[in-house]
Amino acid sequence: MATAQGNPLTDIFLSRLDEGGYRVTESRQEVALAVFRQQDHFSVEDICRLLPTVGRATVFRNIKLMLEMNLVCRVVLEDGGVQYQVAERRHHHHLVCTRCGRTTDLLGCDFEDELRAKAKAQGMLLESHRLEVYGRCTECQAA
Ligand SMILES: [Zn+2]
Ligand SMILES: [Zn+2]
Ligand SMILES: [Zn+2]
Repeated sequence: MATAQGNPLTDIFLSRLDEGGYRVTESRQEVALAVFRQQDHFSVEDICRLLPTVGRATVFRNIKLMLEMNLVCRVVLEDGGVQYQVAERRHHHHLVCTRCGRTTDLLGCDFEDELRAKAKAQGMLLESHRLEVYGRCTECQAA
């Protein structure tokens, strides 16, 4: 089975799996190839449609691993739907346009310390946080 096809993220994913003691099966490779080819955000269902022979649980499990490795990020849409984006990046947030659905990364997070303090005031030890910003993108404001 061919690997990378020019996408370094596929290689990174597969080699980290290998290092982590996961078996690099053919279906894992297929999921990796399909995911890292995505230019836009995608859902688990989108990947399932591309790979009719791979089970949904396998697709989901692999995307979850990619998420843990920070190779993809998760976007929660205004209606609660979940989508993913290929992004080899550390922690960041998203600006989601409620009209056209476009998602952009909101880089730079200044909230962690403040949230840590607020959580601590209520006896909670902060582990992580997530924030999506919903609004209208520049083009949709003009429309
Ligand atoms: Zn992102
Ligand atoms: Zn828009
Ligand atoms: Zn943050």
